[in-house]
Amino acid sequence: MACAKKKGKSQKIRVDFRKNRAGRTRGDADLTRDVQQERFQEDETLKEERIRGKGAIFRQRTIHVEENAAGPAGETLLAKDALASQLRVAEDARPGVVLRVHGLNTLVEDAATGRLYRCAVRRLLRTLATSHRHVVVTGDSVLFRPVDAESRDSEYAPHDPDFTMETLPEGIIERVEARHGCLCRTSRGRLHTLVANIDQAILVASAAAPGLKPNLIDRMIIMTEKMGIRPVLCINKADLVDKTRLMPLLGMYARMGYASLLVSAVTGEGVPQLCQLLKQPGVRSVVTGQSGVGKSSLLNAVEPGLNLLTREVSEENEKGRHTTSAAQLIKLTGGGYVVDTPGIRQFELWDVVPAEVANFFRDIRPYCSLCRFPDCTHTHEIDCAVKEAVEENYIDARRYMNYCQIMAGDVVGGRESEEDFELEIEQG
Ligand code: GDP
Ligand code: ZN
Repeated sequence: MACAKKKGKSQKIRVDFRKNRAGRTRGDADLTRDVQQERFQEDETLKEERIRGKGAIFRQRTIHVEENAAGPAGETLLAKDALASQLRVAEDARPGVVLRVHGLNTLVEDAATGRLYRCAVRRLLRTLATSHRHVVVTGDSVLFRPVDAESRDSEYAPHDPDFTMETLPEGIIERVEARHGCLCRTSRGRLHTLVANIDQAILVASAAAPGLKPNLIDRMIIMTEKMGIRPVLCINKADLVDKTRLMPLLGMYARMGYASLLVSAVTGEGVPQLCQLLKQPGVRSVVTGQSGVGKSSLLNAVEPGLNLLTREVSEENEKGRHTTSAAQLIKLTGGGYVVDTPGIRQFELWDVVPAEVANFFRDIRPYCSLCRFPDCTHTHEIDCAVKEAVEENYIDARRYMNYCQIMAGDVVGGRESEEDFELEIEQG
């Protein structure tokens, strides 16, 4: 402890051990797994993390984080996640991007060189992972330390069934940076992060077959607003309809400030614009939308080499394992990444509470503060500025009705309504 004071720049925080660090009982011993875990353990870097012998029940360790890292004292123990991004790391650690997580192996791309590493996670980080199943998820920005300099480079080819991490140089993930734009899923009441640090979501809808569902578009937008991800509205199968019929709808979203594209995977129309949006250095996108709208077709048009992608993912699904860790970040030629995971093909409205719904409607939000009642829900109240704006046609009536439907609880809480309103577009 004295040494920590001398340095004067660190803060001591005590964290609980995870169960897996407590003494193992014979019954649950899994020797193979132990060997795999220990193989990568590099405790030399943990000099500053000392174990306090306090008996089996209240085992904690004291760790040092950078000054002011964990905020006011009262918050320190609650802020374990933030803490993971503040741990001191070895000096030779370098920035990397997690492309995928497979069991104990994490595929990390060196942000500077593009080289790939098969990384294990520093033991302390796993200790901190109490609220998430995985301490490292696809999309994480990490600091990692290569542990062998031997050059065993391998091309990253996610669509190549023979690709294996086994031959890659090894590394240790030392720190996970704070996350933004997370795609999550709840299972058994717990929230799991599937992918982190997504910048934009390409919300794919189809002009026809299946018919355009503006209410579904709204819900997808709400999710992106909630997650802090930039939505890009992408209406596919433009070849099937009279495009002028789509203009009022696209115009409405454009007026709200949402980027929107009209594309066709079949004719290639709009695909260069989609490429431009996706292929920006470092930008991480997710492509989402109802099944059958043409997400795979569009991705294949953007990156022709990806044609085996969907097959690979569904195979992984069939095995029934690693469903949550199957998410991968796919590097696009020319820059940028797209995420592919079966779990987020379609967004679900989860965890959106009625009080915040209006906030996620960009067209409704400006009127909310003008209502008579500060807690106006804009549904049944008198002197409601939102309802007045609808009457005056400042707010699109269809959007408002969808807002009411969401507020009525038809969709908040995870389920999507079955009988979704379909916009009739004349076939071209
Ligand atoms: P996903 O489920 O969203 O990945 O959709 P797919 O990419 O598998 O496409 C579903 C179906 O729509 C396939 O039969 C495609 O050939 C077809 N499709 C995809 N894009 C277009 C398009 O732009 N125009 C037309 N006419 N059909 C398309
Ligand atoms: Zn109101």
